[in-house]
Amino acid sequence: MRTDGFSGRITIVGAEDRHPYDRPPLSKKLLSGEWEPERISLRKPDDLALLNIEWVLGSPAASLDLEARTLALASGRTILFEGLIIATGSAARRLPNQPNWQGIHLLRTMDDALALRAAIEPSADGPSPKVVVIGAGFIGLEVAATARSRGCSVTVLEGAEAPMMRGLGVEMGRAASLVHGDNGVDMRLGVSVASFFESSKGRIGGVELSTGERIEADVVVVGVGAAPVTSWLEGSGLELRDGVVCDHFLNAGSPLVYAAGDVCRWTNDLYGRAMRVEHWTTASEQGAAAARNLLAEAAGEERVAYSAVPFFWSDQFTARIQFLGRAEGDEIVHVVVGSPAERGFVAVYERAGVLVAALGVSRPRQLMPFRSLIASRVSIEEALDFAASLNAPS
Ligand SMILES: Cc1cc2nc3c(=O)[nH]c(=O)nc-3n(C[C@H](O)[C@H](O)[C@H](O)COP(=O)(O)OP(=O)(O)OC[C@H]3O[C@@H](n4cnc5c(N)ncnc54)[C@H](O)[C@@H]3O)c2cc1C
Repeated sequence: MRTDGFSGRITIVGAEDRHPYDRPPLSKKLLSGEWEPERISLRKPDDLALLNIEWVLGSPAASLDLEARTLALASGRTILFEGLIIATGSAARRLPNQPNWQGIHLLRTMDDALALRAAIEPSADGPSPKVVVIGAGFIGLEVAATARSRGCSVTVLEGAEAPMMRGLGVEMGRAASLVHGDNGVDMRLGVSVASFFESSKGRIGGVELSTGERIEADVVVVGVGAAPVTSWLEGSGLELRDGVVCDHFLNAGSPLVYAAGDVCRWTNDLYGRAMRVEHWTTASEQGAAAARNLLAEAAGEERVAYSAVPFFWSDQFTARIQFLGRAEGDEIVHVVVGSPAERGFVAVYERAGVLVAALGVSRPRQLMPFRSLIASRVSIEEALDFAASLNAPS
């Protein structure tokens, strides 16, 4: 809003007692100990001061009254607003039978990451910690790679038939995760965790599978996805359906009220349907788009619809996985550059003869041109012709 010239009052209410920071390194360089917390601040203290914002941190918003235009905080304070941007993100899911024992971790916040980092610290004299990761999604696999790189023995337990299946589909989920086997991660697919057991009172000892098999662990990381944080908006009158439902301008159905990021379910015109995306690039683009549209609405000016090809990346060992678009899991997939055996490739996803998504593993230069092809909804033939030109000797 400041970049767009707004000089009025801005208040940021945050549940965490910290200024904003980048989450992707929480499972990567911050967890490995290569980076310290200061390195992932979104802005340096001097730059934050220049923004001239009132920070209300460590005090979550508890409810919203759209008629009175007020936000009630858990601390008891009430804030009057003219415009509101809802960006409460998502929170890590717990397993229904998950006990509150020492050694069981979730990963969403800096505090979570620092606690997990201490738990997987290699010990100078004893054996390295045994880590079990429940869930082979992106965050679970990044944790597995980081813990393994720090010398831990790592077992990943996944109910589905392939890792990263929800994002990449079965075949590509398998292909993109080969690097885990190369590095000695024990990947157990199609298994289900029935219960947890203790090593001593209140301390994790491991997990028991539905087959009765017991797997010992000093550390268990539950990486079973995230859910949008909307409970505080119940009863506010905003439509909530796996996120805050928004139109293509990111407006949440009330004048000057917008949503952005993981919490936002909006109509993406490029796909002609509503979607919610839990990726860093979408969150940062939507933050800017929501701010701009709020200011435009207040000034009675034209707003701009936010539509984009979703993009995310994930770093696991030496593999940089990058994905453009959306896959539902039943697309036809063509590997067009390199091969899974080389641990470097690009694959394109076809639905009804149209290019809908593309995956790159450690091939960023060859992957990125597919973004504009996906946005233009080119036919798969056109995409394959383009890919052939990438492979042609120059
Ligand atoms: C460990 C990890 C690794 C990731 N790695 C990648 C990656 O490699 N690539 C990628 O594309 N994406 C990655 N992501 C996803 C990416 O970080 C998220 O998409 C992004 O953080 C979403 O931003 P957001 O602002 O919408 O929500 P968040 O980052 O979740 O921020 C929401 C904030 O709102 C606060 N809040 C919640 N409720 C309230 C309330 N009632 N009142 C006030 N404040 C509240 C929360 O405490 C939080 O600080 C990763 C996420 C995690 C957790």
